[in-house]
Amino acid sequence: MSRNPYTSEVVFSTAAAGRDEVDVSVGRAAAAAPGWAATPIQERAAVLRRFADLVEADATKLADLIVAEVGKLRSEALGEVEWTARSARYYADHPPAVDRRGGAVVRRRPLGVVAAVTPWNVPLVTPAWKWLPALVAGNAVVWKPSELASATAAAAVDLLVQAGLPGGVVVPVLGGAETGQAVCADPRVRGITFTGSTEAGRTIAVLAAQRFVPCALEMSGINVAVVFADADLDLAVDCVAGASTAINGQKCTATRRVLAQRTVAEEFVARLAQRYEALRPGDPLRETTTLGPLISPTASERARLAVSAAQRSGARVAGRSPGLEDVPAAFPATLLTGLSTGDPLRRQELFAPVTSVDAFDEADGVWQLANDSPYGLSAAVYTGDAATAGKALERLQAGVIAVNRRGDAVDLEAPFGGVKDSGNGRPEGGEYLYDTLTTHQATYGTAAE
Ligand code: NAD
Repeated sequence: MSRNPYTSEVVFSTAAAGRDEVDVSVGRAAAAAPGWAATPIQERAAVLRRFADLVEADATKLADLIVAEVGKLRSEALGEVEWTARSARYYADHPPAVDRRGGAVVRRRPLGVVAAVTPWNVPLVTPAWKWLPALVAGNAVVWKPSELASATAAAAVDLLVQAGLPGGVVVPVLGGAETGQAVCADPRVRGITFTGSTEAGRTIAVLAAQRFVPCALEMSGINVAVVFADADLDLAVDCVAGASTAINGQKCTATRRVLAQRTVAEEFVARLAQRYEALRPGDPLRETTTLGPLISPTASERARLAVSAAQRSGARVAGRSPGLEDVPAAFPATLLTGLSTGDPLRRQELFAPVTSVDAFDEADGVWQLANDSPYGLSAAVYTGDAATAGKALERLQAGVIAVNRRGDAVDLEAPFGGVKDSGNGRPEGGEYLYDTLTTHQATYGTAAE
């Protein structure tokens, strides 16, 4: 079931698919897979191009649905819709390449049925980054969207069908963790692409390993930004303010902790605090709103408890956005200093606009502090010195590194994936997911030989 986080109204309600329904759904995809794999690549690409056109034609409706289900700002939702159309055209133009190695022609063969399991925070383009490459490569997809974004999923599948995708080639299966687990455990599923929490990813990795099935996992993060004294402080504040509050602080690549060199730390904190205090929380549909609610009252209660516990262990709230008293899912953007070394906020991702700042002295020692995290999704460094930026690239353990840019930078063509507990070395983005969703076939000789 999905509920509007701002109004609390139910947006979509359906029973979760049980084992029987999962069995039938995977069966439908398995039946459709050979026909789709045999469809000429130009026809598969044409479906994606028509899908892109339909997404653009429906942009306003889709964006409003995303806002209603997940509470992100309307401008963010419109951006997500636009990215989805752009991604569809990209994959239509970039199917898996045929390669020559030695005397072999190397082709990418589809796996058959693959599973896509996706989160709620980016409910359209994150799933699309899974099913678009899967489809152009010739796979059928069983898609388990987040139970908190089922209406957006249903709208996306409608558009795929309108674009001419044959029945059974993308089968949505609605439900929560148990449904997702049943999909990933089905022996007919030959590849898995997952985005979500590290906890869920760990369960899925085990299911995949038991059948030797390739599995791409994009998971949680506590993303660091390192601000050196020689940085353009206006730029650093701007980037951290943006990257810590995008999607109301519920972005996997959000900047969550800042290491600021001591000589500028106080000023950095004061300026970031001002930015948080100037945020305008409210209805995410309104153009003037700059901070919407969290996904649910449970999420805001979790954030409240985490910040209160941090304060009891000595942390100080250095800045806070105005609140929204009458919206139970709302939580103010909160800037903390003096977080204790053992605070859970340093080790467990809190999916909320809560950012902490620590001061550091020695430039040489900062990389160890920056890497002291179970995660390694994204990192940012702000400095005016090229050698320091070079050190950052060498030393920071993260799949995405931004230099004097927002830490949540993502480009469609580039690999996107984390290290350590944030990812398992199988990125998505660009043509990278083909490594998970296809198998290499080396062929020698020709009929004429
Ligand atoms: P989640 O892990 O609770 O759920 C993600 C999806 O997995 C949902 O469809 C859910 O129903 C399903 N699921 C949950 N447990 C499962 C299990 N045991 N077996 C199979 N399926 C299961 O995550 P969420 O709350 O939807 O999203 C927020 C999380 O996603 C955050 O941790 C965030 O960092 C992460 N995220 C990561 C990226 C990335 O690219 N690295 C992007 C967006 C979100």
